[in-house]
Amino acid sequence: MSEQPQWRKKASEFKSDAKIFIDGSFFDAASGKTFDNISPSQNKVIGQIASGDVEDVNRAVASAKKVFDAGTWRDMNPRDKKAIMLRWAQLLGEHREELAFLEAIDTGRPISDALSVDAPNSTRVIQWYAETIDKTYDEIAPAPRNALAMITREPLGVIGAVVPWNYPMMITSWKLGPAIAMGNSIVVKPAENSSLSALKMAELAVAAGLPEGVFNVVPGRGSEAGQALARHMDVAKIAFTGSGPTGRKMMAYAAESNMKQVSLELGGKSPQVVLKDCTDLEAAASTIAWAIYYNAGQTCNAGSRIIVEKEIKEELFAHLHKFLESFKVGNQFDPATQMAGLVSNLQRDRVNAYLDLIGHDGEKVIFGGEKTTGHDLLIQPTLIDNVKPDSRLAQEEIFGPVLVAIDATDEDDALRLANATEYGLAASVWTNNIAKAHKFARKLRAGTVWVNTFDMLDVITPFGGFGASGSGRDKSLHAIDAYSALKTTWVDLN
Ligand code: NAD
Repeated sequence: MSEQPQWRKKASEFKSDAKIFIDGSFFDAASGKTFDNISPSQNKVIGQIASGDVEDVNRAVASAKKVFDAGTWRDMNPRDKKAIMLRWAQLLGEHREELAFLEAIDTGRPISDALSVDAPNSTRVIQWYAETIDKTYDEIAPAPRNALAMITREPLGVIGAVVPWNYPMMITSWKLGPAIAMGNSIVVKPAENSSLSALKMAELAVAAGLPEGVFNVVPGRGSEAGQALARHMDVAKIAFTGSGPTGRKMMAYAAESNMKQVSLELGGKSPQVVLKDCTDLEAAASTIAWAIYYNAGQTCNAGSRIIVEKEIKEELFAHLHKFLESFKVGNQFDPATQMAGLVSNLQRDRVNAYLDLIGHDGEKVIFGGEKTTGHDLLIQPTLIDNVKPDSRLAQEEIFGPVLVAIDATDEDDALRLANATEYGLAASVWTNNIAKAHKFARKLRAGTVWVNTFDMLDVITPFGGFGASGSGRDKSLHAIDAYSALKTTWVDLN
C-alpha cells in the first residue's frame, strides 16, 4: 500500500460520502443538506459531506449529555476506561494507512507526512491519555485533624471542539485525549475541508467499546454547526483552534449563552532568532527552513519570521538558498515530495494576496515569491529579505510557505523585534552560548521556546500561546486540568 502508484490510484478512485456521527451511528443532516468535499491536490469534488446545523448539533449534544448524565463512561472503573481507550489507540494504529490517506486526500499534505507524523502522533496522544486514567490522583488538603478536606477533579460535562484543517487529526486528538480520559463527552465540529479523519476516529472509538454518545462528530459550516455548538446551553466548554476572528466569536458566543469555558489556540507569527555566535549555520538553515515550509507553512507555530544579526545574514542566506534549491515541492503522492500544495483555492488566494505586497516597501525576494493560479495549489517556498518589522508581511499570519527576514543590529534589538507582534505562540533562538540561550529564552514572549532547534513537539509538553495566540494549553498532564473542574468536599469528623 505504501507505493506511490497505489496511493495515486486509490486517490483517483476514492469517493467520500461523509455523514454525521451521533450516538454511535451515521446519519444524514436533518435538513438533508450536503456540501462538496474537494480534494485539493486533484482540485476536484470527491464526494459530499453532510452539512450539520442547529438541529444536528442539538441532537449530538443531547446524546453526549444523556450518556454523561447516566454516568456510563464518567463513572466507569478507571481500569476498564483505560482498557477501552488503549484498545481505541490500538485500532487507530491498525488503521494508520487509512487514516493517513483520509488526512492526505482532505488536506493535500504529502502522504509520507500523514503516514509518519499525523496518524502515529494522533494515536500516541490517545494512548498517552489512556495511560493517565489510572494514574491521576486526587488530593487531601492539610485541614485540621477533625476534618477531611478532599480536592477531587470532576469532568465538565459536554465538550464542544471546533477544529481547523491544517492538522485535523492531531489537533482533534489533543482535545479528545484529555476530554475523554477525564470522563467528559465530546462533540467535534471538524473544518469544512477536513471532516473524514474525525469521523473515522469516532467510528473506531465505538468499535473499541467507548459508549455510544461519548464521542460525536457533526461536520458542517462554521457559521452553522460551529456557531450552534459554541452557543449551546448544555455545552460546558468550547475547545477551539483556528483563526483569531473566529476565536473572538467563540468568546462572544460563550458570553451570550451559558458563559461556558473557552480555550483558544489561534496561531502566530513565530520568530526564529539567529544570533551571531551560532557557528553551525548550515545545520541551523535546514531546521529554519523546515520550521516554515513543513506542511506548506500551514502550521500555527510556523517559524515565519527570521530575525538575524546582520553580521551572519549573508552566510545564513547562502545556506538557506542551497537548502531550498534541493527542496522537493510536488505531488502529495510522490514519496520524494517534501512540500505539497495548499489546502484550498481560498488559502491559495490568501497567500497570493500577501505575495502581492512584496516590493511595495523595499522588500527583496531571495527565493520563490511567485504567486500561483495553478490547479495543484503549489506555491514555491519563499524567502523575503528587507521586510519592515511593522509591515503586514512581518505582522500578519500568512499561513503559507513564506519566510520573512528582518535584520537585527544586536542581541537586544533581536529580542525587541522577536516580541514585537501581537502573537506569542512559539519562538526559537540559535546561539552557542548556553547562558545567553537561557536568558534570551526567558525573555521571549511565547508559549513554547526552542533553543537551537524547532518544532520539537510531543504530547508530554503543553502547547498554546500568549496574547493574540490565545489562551489555555493543549497536551501534557496540564490538559487534564483543562477538561475538569476542582471540587472541594469538606467532611466534619467531629
Ligand atoms: P477559521 O477560524 O474560520 O476556521 C476554524 C474552524 O472554525 C473551522 O472548523 C470552521 O468551520 C470554524 N468556524 C468558522 N467560523 C465559525 C463561526 N462563526 N462559528 C463557529 N465556528 C466557526 O479559519 P479558516 O478560515 O479555516 O482559516 C483562516 C486563517 O486562520 C488561516 O489563513 C490561518 O491564518 C488561520 N488558521 C489558524 C489555525 C491554527 O492552527 N491556529 C488553523 C487554521 C487556520
